[in-house]
Formats: sequence, structure tokens, C-alpha cells
Amino acid sequence: QIQRALRSLSVPLERLHIMKGHMMQDMCKGLSRQMHTQAKVRMLPTYICSTPNGTEKGNFLVVELCQNQVRTLLVTLYGDGNMSPQMMYKIFDMPEGIMQGEGEALFDFIAQCVSQFLAETITSDTNTSEERLPLGFVFPFSCRQTQLDKAELLSWSKGFSCSGVVGKDVVQLLQSAINKQELCHVDVVALMNDTVGTMMTCSMEGRPCEVAVVADKGSNCCFMAEAYLVETTEETSGRMCVNTEWGCFGDDGTLNDIFTPYDECVDEESSNPGEKRFEKMVGSLYLGEIVRHALIALTAEKALFTGTDVAVLKEKGVFTIQHILEIINNEDGIADVRRVLELLGLQPSERDCGRVQQVCRAVVGRAATLYATGLAAILSYMCQTREMETLMVNVGVEGELYTGYPRFEEILQSVSRLLAPECMATLLPSRDGSGRGAAMVTAVALRLAAQRREVNKVLAPLRLTHADLEKVQALMRQEMERGLSKETNATASVRMLPTYVSHTPDGTERGDFLALDLGGTNFRVLVVHVTEEGISMASEIYVIPAAIMQGTGERLFDHIIDCIIDFQVKQNLMTQTLPLGFTFSFPCQQVGLDKALLLTWTKGFTASGCVGQDVVQLLRQAAQRKQHSGLQVVALLNDTVGTMMSCGYDDPKCEIGLIVGTGTNACYMEEMRNVGTVEGDKGRMCINMEWGAFGDNGCLDHIFTHFDKVVDETTINPGKQRFEKLISGMYLGEIVRQILMVMTEKQLLFQGRPCPKLQTKNIFQTKFLSTIELNGLALRQIRAILKELELDASFEDSVLMREVCQTVSLRAAQLCAAGLAAVVEKMRENRGLDQLSVTVGVDGTLYKLHPCFSHNLQKTLKDLAPNCNVSFLLSEDGSGKGAALVAAVAHRAAN
Ligand code: ADP
Ligand code: MG
Repeated sequence: QIQRALRSLSVPLERLHIMKGHMMQDMCKGLSRQMHTQAKVRMLPTYICSTPNGTEKGNFLVVELCQNQVRTLLVTLYGDGNMSPQMMYKIFDMPEGIMQGEGEALFDFIAQCVSQFLAETITSDTNTSEERLPLGFVFPFSCRQTQLDKAELLSWSKGFSCSGVVGKDVVQLLQSAINKQELCHVDVVALMNDTVGTMMTCSMEGRPCEVAVVADKGSNCCFMAEAYLVETTEETSGRMCVNTEWGCFGDDGTLNDIFTPYDECVDEESSNPGEKRFEKMVGSLYLGEIVRHALIALTAEKALFTGTDVAVLKEKGVFTIQHILEIINNEDGIADVRRVLELLGLQPSERDCGRVQQVCRAVVGRAATLYATGLAAILSYMCQTREMETLMVNVGVEGELYTGYPRFEEILQSVSRLLAPECMATLLPSRDGSGRGAAMVTAVALRLAAQRREVNKVLAPLRLTHADLEKVQALMRQEMERGLSKETNATASVRMLPTYVSHTPDGTERGDFLALDLGGTNFRVLVVHVTEEGISMASEIYVIPAAIMQGTGERLFDHIIDCIIDFQVKQNLMTQTLPLGFTFSFPCQQVGLDKALLLTWTKGFTASGCVGQDVVQLLRQAAQRKQHSGLQVVALLNDTVGTMMSCGYDDPKCEIGLIVGTGTNACYMEEMRNVGTVEGDKGRMCINMEWGAFGDNGCLDHIFTHFDKVVDETTINPGKQRFEKLISGMYLGEIVRQILMVMTEKQLLFQGRPCPKLQTKNIFQTKFLSTIELNGLALRQIRAILKELELDASFEDSVLMREVCQTVSLRAAQLCAAGLAAVVEKMRENRGLDQLSVTVGVDGTLYKLHPCFSHNLQKTLKDLAPNCNVSFLLSEDGSGKGAALVAAVAHRAAN
């Protein structure tokens, strides 16, 4: 019988694995927006988003509401890694009846305790009467918390039932009571559960503690979860401490298969049958009861105490955790066991003593094992959601089971390791968890608030309001008008270059074409077949050596012809004369579809004798020199135009082209009557805006920040392409780098440690923004980037870096939207429409690969141009396809 009883109390490993899985499922449920009301593991958000880093300092007051007592505590932190805080306590007994009286009386009493405590402890040498004194409130009841200092009481427990408190904000109630005591310098800044305090006390410098287990009368656990997983809050950045309230695990029956008849008895006799089933198997308040029921059953089966008086076993609560600990902690002999049992009024034989000891060990051992299983679930969950292969984490532990039972730690460690082998937990004893921890929470809250103010100050100039963006839109519109008008064109910062493309494709284009693409990242030659079935093409990438880019124009164009010939030979095209479209992505003054004067080189090209010349002519002359007669250049176009045309082939509404890659630019279909720089009033023409230069005349000076100015000054073209320098891939990384340098200087990052690598130009690439901003925050990848920069970043550092990246890329997308809003609104007005439906063809790696850019762009555009219904179409190979289509459309128009 004894063996059977012991067996029922030992849970086999596979059952533990199953239980761990259930726990993890319930945790996910508890965090999910839709399912959380059904979860037994409540997973309450605490709004504590950071653990101490050791720099906290100052005086902090704590008030803790306990069973029958109010504890007050004054903690002084020295910013020394929290190694040696100074602490002063006072405990006040609660007057009779207050726990069931009026809420106001309870809070008045707490405030009086605070007042009395301060009067006694604050002497002239700890004088803080001038300073504000922040207070942390430990309130161990179930609350719906919506901020660190805002928590509505859901329900009382533990014998409390004060009137007029449920549904109210308890922080507010305490603050009002404190104000009544004329303690106006005391601010209640944080409210927390006691479990959180345990986690916070164990965090020391360079050693954050991210999990806490309380193994006391009750049982609970909290841990730092990825904030975006806590769907019950709006917080998405960083982490937040979640109070699991795991005591209720199993209330839906999940634990039924490991319940013993003794557990059932304990539950039935409790004040809340069916509830807190996990807690009733592990909480030290219940372990004595489990043992008592086991002994009753064994006595009835005549396996124990035969022939003696066991009436005492009928008394509820007669066995306490202290009795049990005394019984099991005695390794040699049973003298102590006998003493304990006899004191209780039993008359045990030698055999009884041994058996009782075995039962006690089994009950406590099971509790430790179940704790370990819960911990393993937490650890695996953390490891999975942080996308780590292995997790190293510190776990704070507190409670009488942990301190009173020497083997508890060993079991917790070894069993959790067995169940979560991918995780390495280091167990840390918590010293006075709730009180000291509450001071830490309060201190961290203040540190973060101060840091937040500083961060906001740095980032404020980069945050644009709706009104700011409307102004940018209006300015863009104004510069567009100036660029289109013959009189003002020369001084406009937006050049509004005519392209001589007057039609977008209508899908009936057919034929074979050659295309050249010069001015992007590569030089390419293509053959494009436009057929009824669609467009197919073949292409070849050719290198243009730096010596040729920077040599003479003749050499450059000779080289281009060589590449064309090579391509035609390879493609077996030497005998045909195909119309050729030339995508040439440099600013040109176009005077015809096949006549374009180069205004200036950019992107590293400096070939001599080209600026001011007709680029098409330069190409034709080179063909003559090379005696290549089968070349028929019919059109030259910008890459924005190619993008619009290639998307226009699939979507006839596509009348705008947009590039957001290394640089940024846009084109759109304008009414000829508005194009003052070209003869004729009929029909439309595509205008290459060259909007990257918007603001070069000073009209955007009011939005340039210190960071933008520094970035501009270090480019090869200071003062030029000012709009582009706020938006495109070549510059965003640099802007972020400048901000990070300033934040490091202000000690907002890396705890003020210098970061020499960050001084290197272009070290922070724009593709890092994409990685860092990706939702779900793959910490591993951020760490890899930071390592490349030789940065030793804490978790909070990487969260702040993400905010910086988000701010910079959001502004870029918003400005781009303001520019586009000016374009679509002008098109709508041109056409006299109440509502315009139009598509934008887009190309560029920043637009395509950045996780939020396109979304932010589209959202802002909706705000700024509500009467335009704008769709976006990604361009595939716009420069090749687009060049062929321009050639085809030109062909069709000519016939
Ligand atoms: P180009 O504009 O020269 O034709 P792309 O459109 O490919 O070429 O743009 C290249 C630019 O895109 C690079 O200069 C870089 O700044 C940016 N970029 C590259 N990868 C990413 C990425 N993953 N996320 C955001 N931007 C990127
Ligand atoms: Mg490109």
C-alpha cells in the first residue's frame, strides 16, 4: 500500500513532457487577444519593460500590503550596480476590521503608515523634503493593469473585501490618501505584484534576471516576454514582464491525470474547490494537507499507526510545511520524525516514522518536480519566441519551499534541464524580493522616464506632423508649377524635364527590340520580345571599368558599342536591325524622344566631352566608328519612365513612375497645355520630375535637422539633391549613424561607452534598417549587425536603435508620400475629377525590401490625398521592358 501511495505521487517523465506542452499552450492562449479570457494561466501584463542595469540611484519608498500588515521600506540606491542598497523598514499591524471595512479607511491607513514611517526615518542627513520621493506600491491582488501606474482592482482575495475599491484605480486611491496626509512630494509611480519584485531584486549589473519563481504558500512565476506577443497591450517594442498567475493552471482539467485522491480531498476541503489546482499541488500552504490526507488513507488501509489514536489527523491544517520540512530534512535517523509526530499527538512506531518520512519526501519532491516543469515551459517559450537556438537566463527564486528544502534547487535545476535541454538557467536566490524589488521597479521606471524625455528631444525634429507634410506637399506643388513654366524653369529646384513620351502602353504593342540600361547598379544589354502572349527577354550584364567611366566620352561609348556587338553575336541577332530603347538614368534636357542633352553626370561617372552633348548622337557616332550599321536608336528614357511604362503594360491606369533605390525620382503624365517648356497644347507628355533636387533652392530648409545637414556636408555633392538625401537608400543609414553617435554622446545608448567604429562613414548600411525594423525582432540578427559594428549592445540598446531606424525610415516614406500627393492631386485637378484612380509603377530596392516603407508611404498618401485612389504596382525589370515599350509606343505613334 505504501508503495502504491508513493508511486501515485511520483509523476513519470513523459507525463511531465505533456504537462509542459499544456502549460506552453495555455501561456500562448493567455497572451492572445482573442483567447486570453479562456486561458487558465492568466499572463497578466505588468507594464514593466526593463530590468535594472545598475545605474539606478536615489531614494525610493515602497509600501507593501500584506496579510494583516502594511510594510514600509525606504531604499537608497547608489548607482553601483545595486550591490549594496541601504534599506530601512517598518511594519505596521492592521487594525481589527479594516480588511473588511471601507476602502477609503484602508487607503487612509496605508497613507498614515507612510507618513509615520517618513517622520521617523527621514532625518536631516537623509533629507529629501525638497526632492520628490517616488513610491512603489506592492499590491498582491488581481488587477487589470493598463500602465505601470494605473491598475483597476478586479477582485479581492486573501481575506480582503473592502468596499468601493473593485473596479477603481488603486494607484489613484493611494495617491489621494497620501495627498490627504500632506505628503505632496510623494508620487506613486509604480504598482506591482510581489512576484515581479523577486525578479527585479536578482538583477545586478550586467546580469539581468528575466524569470522569477515564487515557491511559497502560494505559487507564481513571472518572466520577460517579447512585448509584441503580449497582445493584450498596445506595447510592441522590446519586452514586458508578464505575471503568469500560473497557480490556476489545470483548472480546465489539464492536470486531472496526475491528481491523486489526496489532492482531490485537499481541493474539496479548500475554500475554492476546483480552482488553483496547480497551486494546490505545489504551494506550501497545501503540502501539509496533502500529507495529512495521504496519512488518513494509509491509516484506513492499516498501513500506518495501527491500533493507535489518530483523531488528530482529522484536524484541518494540523500538518504545516514546518512539520514536513523538519521530518524530511533529517537524513540520519528518525528521532526528529518521532518528536514531530508525538508533538502532534500521534504514537508512531519506528516503521511509521520511516513511512511518514517517505510520504513527506514524495509530496515535497513532487512539488519541486512540478515547479521544474512549469519553469521548463517558461524557458522553452522564451527560447522559441526569441528565435534562439539556446537560451542562457538567470532565474530568481524565492519562498519558504526554496529556502527550507535543500534539495528543491537541485530538483528545479536538473528536471528543468531534462525537460528544456536547450535552456541553461542559473538559479539566483532572491533577497527580500518584494520590497527591494519594488524599489528597483520604481527606480527603473524613473530612469526610463528620464531617458524617454531625452530620446524624444533628440528625435523630435525628425517627427513630422500632418501639417508639416501638407506644407511639403504644397511646396512640391509650387516647385512643380515653377518647373513646368517656361519663365521659372531655370530657377526651379524640381526640373520637370519633358521626356517626349506621350502615351502609355495599351497592350497592343508587338515586336522585337534592343534595350540598353545605363545608370543603375549595372550596365545591361537586352533583347525584348513583345508578343501577344506577353513579354520575354534575354539580357547580359557588362562591367564598365572605372577607367572607362572616368575616361573620355569616346571610349565610354565605344565600349558600349562593343558590348552591344558582343551581345548580338551571342544572341544571333547580327543580321537584324532592331529598334533600340536606351534607359539612361542621368538628368538630361530632352528635346526629342531620341535627342537628349546630358545636364550632368552622377553616380561616379565623369567621362569627358559628354555634358551638354546629345547622348543619342554620341552613341550613333560610336556605332559609326565601329562600323556597326545595324543600329536604330529610337528612344532615350529615364529609369522612372521605364518603370511607368513596364507597369503600364500590365495596368493601363499606371501613369506615374517612382524609384526609391540608391536615389529617388518620379515621373507622371502631364497635360501638354501645362508644359510650358515644349511647343504644343494637345495630349499629354510624361514629365521626368527629377524630384531628388527638391529643396536645393532652400525651400525645405525648415525640415532639415542637424543630422541631415551633417550627412549632406559629407557627400560629394553638398547642397544638391536635398530631398533625395532625406529619402533614399544611399543616405538613410548615414542619418541613422549620425543619430546613434549623438545618442551615444548623450549616454542614451551603450551606457555611455564610446563606440569608435560608429565614426566610420557608411558603416551603418541602409539594409540594416530593414533587418532591424522587421517585426518580430529577430534579436540574433540585430546582435550580428551590432557585433559587426563592434558594439556591445544591451537588449534595451537594440530596442532604442530600432526606434531610431523606424523614425528615419518613417520620415522618408512620409516625405515621399507628400511628393506623390502633390503629383496625384495635380493630375486630378488637371482632369477636373472629383476622384482620381491611378496606379504608380515602383522600382527600387529600398521600396521593395524595407519591411514598412511601402506601407507607411501608402498610408500617408491616403491621408494627404484623400480624393485619390492610388494603387502601387511593383515593376519587374522596368529599364529593359520599359525601354522596349517606349520604342514600341513610339513606333505605333509614328505609324
Ligand atoms: P539602383 O537604385 O542603383 O538602381 P537599387 O534599386 O537596387 O539600385 O537600390 C540599391 C540601394 O538599395 C542600395 O544603395 C541600398 O541603399 C538599398 N538597399 C539594399 N538592400 C536593401 C535592403 N535590404 N533594405 C533597404 N534598402 C536596401
Ligand atoms: Mg534602378
